[in-house]
Amino acid sequence: MAGRLLLRACTTTAALRLRSSALLTPFHRAVATQRGIPTDEEQATGLERRALQALKQGKDPYSMLKPKTYAGTKEDPHIVPCIGTKRLVGCLCEEDNTAIVWFWLHEGDAQRCPSCGSHYKLVHHELPH
Ligand SMILES: [Zn+2]
Repeated sequence: MAGRLLLRACTTTAALRLRSSALLTPFHRAVATQRGIPTDEEQATGLERRALQALKQGKDPYSMLKPKTYAGTKEDPHIVPCIGTKRLVGCLCEEDNTAIVWFWLHEGDAQRCPSCGSHYKLVHHELPH
């Protein structure tokens, strides 16, 4: 009984508060509070909003998604994005290796890892602004 009275008191004060706030705030804010907690897309601003909109269109300008996997063969080399002309690449030749094989990858044709022979290709990449 006490819980029911408390619930009734809360709903009536919330309804009064909502009516008074609806007069002071814009209509869309009052509707959003009636619907519940806003989603990330509804409340995101700035860079986060731009990133969410890009992800919705299937783009990944900030490299937030997991990189695509490549076979590492001559026909399907590992793509290495780079803003310059060369990049240091570390190859974990086998899945359970504890040592990484490091080598410089240069612009041009695909290069092979000196240890396992996987192909890597450098691709020019622009940084997002
Ligand atoms: Zn390797």
